[in-house]
Amino acid sequence: MATITIERVAKRFGEVTALAELDLSVADGECLALLGPSGCGKTTLLRIIAGLESQTSGRVLIGGRDVSALPPRKRGLAMVFQNYAVFPHLTVYENVAFGLRMAKADKTRIARQVEKTAALLHIEPLLQRHPAQLSGGQRQRVAVARALAVEPAVLLMDEPLSNLDALLRLEMRAELKAVLSGAGTTTIYVTHDQTEAMGLADRIAVVHGGRIEQIGTPSAIYDHPATRFVGGFVGSPPMNFLELPVRDGHADLGGLALPVPQGAGDRVLLGLRAEDVALAAADEDAFPFILKVAELLGPQILLTGMAAGGQPMRVVLSAAGPLPPLVPGSEIALKPDRTRLSWMNAAGHALEIRS
Ligand code: ATP
Repeated sequence: MATITIERVAKRFGEVTALAELDLSVADGECLALLGPSGCGKTTLLRIIAGLESQTSGRVLIGGRDVSALPPRKRGLAMVFQNYAVFPHLTVYENVAFGLRMAKADKTRIARQVEKTAALLHIEPLLQRHPAQLSGGQRQRVAVARALAVEPAVLLMDEPLSNLDALLRLEMRAELKAVLSGAGTTTIYVTHDQTEAMGLADRIAVVHGGRIEQIGTPSAIYDHPATRFVGGFVGSPPMNFLELPVRDGHADLGGLALPVPQGAGDRVLLGLRAEDVALAAADEDAFPFILKVAELLGPQILLTGMAAGGQPMRVVLSAAGPLPPLVPGSEIALKPDRTRLSWMNAAGHALEIRS
């Protein structure tokens, strides 16, 4: 069983605490994304699991075995890191075959695996070239192919698609997902790109300031952010946050009274996704939204403006309509989807824990 368990792992670089004591477990065959902004500690955590960095305290277990004291090559894992190291003196073919040669696989298996992974990563025409004759994105794909060719039980990847153009990235993401779940590989995937984490992972751990702020399935993280940071980091556009006064158990959203959960003080933070509002009919309860800018995004229209006492808000509506006149400065009557409200306290912590 290729499980990964992190027990109270902390890392300090002198005065800098890169990781507070954190716990994490990844199930056999699961793909977990470590998602967070630059400098939050995700690469440090991955390097500790790989054995490239030592932790200040805590333990790393792979398949139930404490590997904390083992060098990287004895941890039984494959890795692809940001500064993808491909061997410059070997051809692409030899690079991809490298791990299998080391494992003394027979020639037929090596040829089959190289062919299969090269096809997957669209590098078949490059097999006889040397890395110096490749672009950055092509080299990155060779590094991914080399890791996948050995069909590892545990795979660690740090932004493995960062050098690819948007279209290729989208395609690789889907193919990678299919391969990883097909092979049952236990994967930890580091990224700062929330769409990549949402698309690829079975679960996402949102890392912030050296801590795991929330861990859950992509839909749990998206629908029920535990904190304001998570709601703002996951999703495009980010979740709207409106600070609202509370009276008699109800928050006042521009004249619309919404019941708040217990534990709310006299002010609450309402987290509202841009797509979770709709145009209100004339006879429906509504709140006013003052339009500043309307942008067409293909099938949707993104409206930027203000609600509830001039607080900034974004709204996404279907471009197929019906739509009101989208004149800057005009007032649009909106209604929130009351089943999709995220209530938080003034400090930005969810009042209801849902999953
Ligand atoms: P990025 O997405 O930019 O790679 P990250 O989330 O992977 O960021 P880390 O590289 O893990 O972040 O860094 C976490 C923190 O630890 C940062 O504040 C960083 O400056 C610090 N740090 C990392 N390596 C060292 C080091 N060798 N010495 C001192 N501080 C370090």
